[in-house]
Amino acid sequence: MKYSFKIGSAWGIPIEIHITFILLMVLEFVLSFPQLYFFFIILLLFVFVVIHELSHSLVARHYKIKVRKIVLYPIGGVSEIEEIPESPSVEWRMAAAGPLTSFAIGLVLLGLGQIMTIRVPVMPLIIATGNMMLELAQLNILLGAFNLIPAFPMDGGRVFRAFLAEKMKFSDATKYAAFIGRLLGVFMTVFGILYDFWLVIIGVFVYIGATEEAESTIVSTTLARVRVKDVMHPQAAVARPENTVAEALETMFKARYHDILIEKEGTLQGIVAWGEIMKIKPEQRSKLQMQQLPLKQVSIFPDESVLEAYKLMSREKIGLIPVVEREEPSKVVGVVTNESIAYAYEKAKTLR
Ligand SMILES: [Zn+2]
Repeated sequence: MKYSFKIGSAWGIPIEIHITFILLMVLEFVLSFPQLYFFFIILLLFVFVVIHELSHSLVARHYKIKVRKIVLYPIGGVSEIEEIPESPSVEWRMAAAGPLTSFAIGLVLLGLGQIMTIRVPVMPLIIATGNMMLELAQLNILLGAFNLIPAFPMDGGRVFRAFLAEKMKFSDATKYAAFIGRLLGVFMTVFGILYDFWLVIIGVFVYIGATEEAESTIVSTTLARVRVKDVMHPQAAVARPENTVAEALETMFKARYHDILIEKEGTLQGIVAWGEIMKIKPEQRSKLQMQQLPLKQVSIFPDESVLEAYKLMSREKIGLIPVVEREEPSKVVGVVTNESIAYAYEKAKTLR
């Protein structure tokens, strides 16, 4: 199931909103009806979270790091980057940009709040000033401060990991930062049960975020160390361009592969994904030829990392990738599949 929905994009980076944020907006709309004061606060919080996340993305772009997407949560956003920056000094700069931006917005609003006042005659969100400008200032400072907590998945956790990574292995630094994140998540949840329900939600979010961050980092650092040639299968399911879809399907079932390579006189033409084959109606499968289906031109060299193979496969939405010689890129020497990547990961973990 999909938990976040695309709402737009900036500089080619898709921006998604998480379902919890939508639920919070609906909840605040209902609870604060008909004055809608809280609802507008949440709506503006949304704008500030977007600005916060975009500041991360801008720094990432500056260092030529690709941002895959931005997901917006009520207590901040997550910028999913293509790969974690190698150098700790880049990572902490990227991470610190968000909280600094939130603080800057907060201070500007604080200044504006001294000059002009937007008075709203209802119980306000944070303190009882009734001055919306000051509340938005506080909201931004809170957003910045919360994200500075030195634990994953907050920005402060990244700064903390970068700091540790100067002194120890990157994967160990990640483990410590994630451990502190989980610990904090547990504390927040327990404290929240006793005092404030919202803290429970934040605590659970922090706990899950810390765990996910640690896992994805460990997976990528592990897979980066394994070479394609050490996990590839020497054989693949292969069809010729003039083969029918039905013939190709039979080859795939026999070889137990999900996608099929198309070869013409021993040279690789490309790969047809399982999804494309499944789009063909059963009655057409014996008539349609494989060359009429969309072909993906993607391959990897034996000396590249399994992480690279994994990234290409998830980007192209394929279950296997052909391995070709560097000297002769049309000659297939094997394939890497999802299963071989999972195997490589398990093996590398036990050997570590
Ligand atoms: Zn941030």
